[in-house]
Amino acid sequence: MALDIGPGDEVITTPMTFIATASAIMCAGARPVFIDVEESSGNINPSLIERAITKKTKAIIPVHLYGQVCDMVAIKAIADKHGLKVIEDSAHCVEGMRDGFRPGNLSDAACFSFYATKNLTCGEGGAISFNNPLLFEKLKLLRLHGMTKSVADREKSGYEHWDMKLLGWKYNLDNIQAAILLPQLERLNKKLQMCENIASLYNNNLKNINGIRLFDIAKNCIHARHLYQIQVLGKSRDAVLNELQKMSIGVVVNYRAIHKLDYYKKELGYQQGDFPVAKNIGDTVISLPFFPNMTFEQAMEVINCVAISIGD
Ligand SMILES: *Cc1c(COP(=O)(O)O)cnc(C)c1O
Repeated sequence: MALDIGPGDEVITTPMTFIATASAIMCAGARPVFIDVEESSGNINPSLIERAITKKTKAIIPVHLYGQVCDMVAIKAIADKHGLKVIEDSAHCVEGMRDGFRPGNLSDAACFSFYATKNLTCGEGGAISFNNPLLFEKLKLLRLHGMTKSVADREKSGYEHWDMKLLGWKYNLDNIQAAILLPQLERLNKKLQMCENIASLYNNNLKNINGIRLFDIAKNCIHARHLYQIQVLGKSRDAVLNELQKMSIGVVVNYRAIHKLDYYKKELGYQQGDFPVAKNIGDTVISLPFFPNMTFEQAMEVINCVAISIGD
């Protein structure tokens, strides 16, 4: 909304994401236009963007799925060619980098989530990074009822009358949450290294199990290691998922392709068979337990249980 995207506009994004990505487009009054993803990473496929562009297209929202940065150089080039905005859904990716660029470097805005499950968290909340002063003014209004002054301004210069410029929300992160968040910044790199170690252990032990596929990491990419995925081949994902749950392994699915969910099917008219790559990933993927303090023994137990459930 801060980028003046609204009714009548289209925004290109991926169906292989959490529903909030597309819901943000709907909440602004615009229409999400899904395109398929790369098989290797699950990220939006830049080579499919141009054919989805219409006169109504205003923006592209790539999602750095699981923590791997999308090909932002390619996406930015297409956006510039067609005069489109780029908004990164960086909920999985605070730490990531690709081709020397971090989230926020090649876009109009990058959106981060500090929800309880994310690598950087204060329970709820989030942040937007951008480098456009006009956008800053608009976002400041939108996040606080459209008011031109906040209570914090009163601290600085005493009470002054304020005006309401536009219809806004109450979406500001409070100081208590910020206090929980700030010390985590110093620990971010160390925790990433710890997650790298778990990921290596998983990679080395899972890659030889028949019936499992692992996602690739692109060249020149630092993965933010938010989630660790396996894909189940040649057997029902849900059967393996249930086996693992019976063995008390904390597995989840991130995500079933969202064009198949009732609401988006109804609102956008997509069919089950659309976006076959995203659908296949959504039907085969499992997120394994994955956190910085995970011990070697815990990771090995997960690996053993995966091997048993796959029947290898
Ligand atoms: C968590 C998440 C969001 C939403 O973040 P909230 O802070 O929970 O609103 C958006 N997109 C993706 C990909 C996410 O994982």
